[in-house]
Amino acid sequence: MTTSNLGISPRQQAVSASLTRSKTTNSDKPGPISQYFGSLTFDLAKMREKLPKESYQNLIKTLEQGKKLNRDSADAIATSIKEWAVAQGATHFCHWFQPMTGLTAEKHDSFITIQYSNHSELKVIEHFSGSQLIQGEPDASSFPSGGMRSTFEARGYTAWDPSSPIFIVEEENTKTLCIPTVFFGYHGQALDNKTPLLRSVESLSTQACELLKLIGDVDVKKVSATLGCEQEYFLVDKNFVALRPDVIMSGRTLLGAASTRGQQLEDHYFGSIPGRVKAYMQDVETELYKLGIPVKTRHNEVAPSQFELAPIFEDANIASDHNTISMEVLKRVALKHGLVCLLHEKPFAGINGSGKHNNWSMSNDKGENLLEPGTTPHQNIRFLMVLSVILKAVHKHSAALRASIATPGNDHRLGANEAPPAIISVFLGQTLSKILNDMEAGKLEEATPAAIIDLGVARLPEVARDNTDRNRTSPFAFTGNKFEFRAVGSSSNVSVPASFLNAAVAQEFKEASARLKTLLQQKESRDEAVMELVRQLVVETKDVRFDGNGYSDEWKKEAQKRGLPILANTAAALPVLKDDTVTSFLVEQKVLSKEEIESRFHIMVERYNKTLEIEAYSLFEMVTNQVIPVVEKQLSSLYVTQEGIQSKGLKSQYSTRVSTLENTFEALLESVKTLEFKIEKINGLGEEEKMQFISSEIIPAMEAVRSASDKSELLVADELWPIPKYREMLFSIGLS
Ligand code: ADP
Ligand code: MG
Repeated sequence: MTTSNLGISPRQQAVSASLTRSKTTNSDKPGPISQYFGSLTFDLAKMREKLPKESYQNLIKTLEQGKKLNRDSADAIATSIKEWAVAQGATHFCHWFQPMTGLTAEKHDSFITIQYSNHSELKVIEHFSGSQLIQGEPDASSFPSGGMRSTFEARGYTAWDPSSPIFIVEEENTKTLCIPTVFFGYHGQALDNKTPLLRSVESLSTQACELLKLIGDVDVKKVSATLGCEQEYFLVDKNFVALRPDVIMSGRTLLGAASTRGQQLEDHYFGSIPGRVKAYMQDVETELYKLGIPVKTRHNEVAPSQFELAPIFEDANIASDHNTISMEVLKRVALKHGLVCLLHEKPFAGINGSGKHNNWSMSNDKGENLLEPGTTPHQNIRFLMVLSVILKAVHKHSAALRASIATPGNDHRLGANEAPPAIISVFLGQTLSKILNDMEAGKLEEATPAAIIDLGVARLPEVARDNTDRNRTSPFAFTGNKFEFRAVGSSSNVSVPASFLNAAVAQEFKEASARLKTLLQQKESRDEAVMELVRQLVVETKDVRFDGNGYSDEWKKEAQKRGLPILANTAAALPVLKDDTVTSFLVEQKVLSKEEIESRFHIMVERYNKTLEIEAYSLFEMVTNQVIPVVEKQLSSLYVTQEGIQSKGLKSQYSTRVSTLENTFEALLESVKTLEFKIEKINGLGEEEKMQFISSEIIPAMEAVRSASDKSELLVADELWPIPKYREMLFSIGLS
């Protein structure tokens, strides 16, 4: 840029810039967390305090009984919200929603309206009406609908979801009031990820309550799905990202030789957090606390420059909104610290990728966790009943669950020898497995009270404390008093897997209720009938239980024998959504209609294709414009040296050095040509065909290019290489 920089390559400049960060002081230190927690949200407590009594009561009826909010109450609520927001300095409001792009969307309107008083004097006032609060009509034509909408009905509507707190986003001196909303089409079709989640939460509650009543919890009114998402992410200095077209375009490195050190020393996980990162985390957490998001845990993850943020669990809908907000905040705050937060599942090859463990359970309206083995025999029987219904749900609907987490990014994790395998199975741990195995082996032939106690049900309370054999290789693991759906990718919107899981469990609660009704007529006591059903479910779901090493090849063979679906990647997983027998539970539980499933399938296929097309083009461009030219430079300098050596008549190893680079260069050119040839073939293919072609042809072609490019990186002079290297991107963060 300037003369003083002459002779220093942009990459070298980036390295020095990354080492000389100015100390970032945390923007503000607001004191004890409890004193500012939720200060930027208009939650129920604030509503109770600020709303007219009647409007507040109407709102509670809407929340608890689904009653429609009347006009007057809506206007009163809108006015209170506006007054609060304006007092906080907010100038604009937006309906905040989650379209099927997987991100969030918002369109801002200011609060102002114009009033004309006497003699047409113009006056600007702040105004916000009930109808503006409750419904919006963003131009929906640019959001994906998967073919559900024809242009003549391109309208989409957003509607306030009062169950999720309204919040203010502060950014660069702007303050915007965000109203969590659902997004749907003219005929009520869901155009977002939140609507199916809300529907699934309803169905789960209805079906769970019915079964719980049958087993004796007669006064149960509501069951909620609870969710806590552990979010993994990478941090990379912004100066490096600026020089990486691949990271800018696709969120991951498409090439780059492994650094000599990766994660083999196993020194990063739970290691001390570098100062620069701690300052960043603190800023992130402060923002999240203000937004009422109860983040609890921060730590280093397995890979260098990889970290994790975990909140305290909440109701699934709120947890999902909060995870989405957290992802935005992680990205936004990183930039202020000169960092880029990468939420991609696999930003760097050869080291661990990022997941988002979805800790999931259910609780009743007394706040009891249904997966908490309790202190009374009844609580333990309820625990076993709920557990066996979940086993049934995961066993029967594993293909759909697998499809719900299928994304191109996640393909780099699942089954790739580091993260959960692509086969959905359930891990239960020693204590529980023993109880279920005994049951299965016939130790509960007759479910008499004595036999039930004999079975070790009395030992159940130990389960919660059984931390001895946590299995990190399982995609769906029981961890004491909840399940962890570990196969979810770090960048995903958790509403999708959560709604599939809720729906699957709701469906199996329904089936279980029907079966239990019959058994209740046959058995002498209710407990016997319940235990008999548990026993049957345990036997039926044996195949989905697996406590061994999920990474091993033996497991793949074994899973095949057991008939579990093995859907190795997105191209294999998504097509199961076209099979009515796989998706009928979603329709039956009114979570997604047939048309909505079809549209989601199309959107997921298209997103896969677009993502990989961007990656393929970016790789092609980088190799053509950045890698090939430096290999040429290196080669010509080798030729000059070689000539000199030969002219002196010296014997030399030099010819090996030359031929090695020549061969690598040749392989590089050839692989690039193949990639180009295959990219050309994409045009004209239908979307589904394209997905299969990309998966079987383009991805291997990209891998070949990468491999030749990475070899070149190791052969070309360090000072010539223009692209920041893995060692720089992964290890600089602890150096400044
Ligand atoms: P672990 O080490 O067992 O994974 P934590 O107790 O730290 O332990 O839990 C991890 C995540 O699981 C946290 O986000 C936590 O809030 C969440 N979690 C704990 N209990 C539940 C539950 N009943 N339902 C949903 N999530 C839960
Ligand atoms: Mg955990």
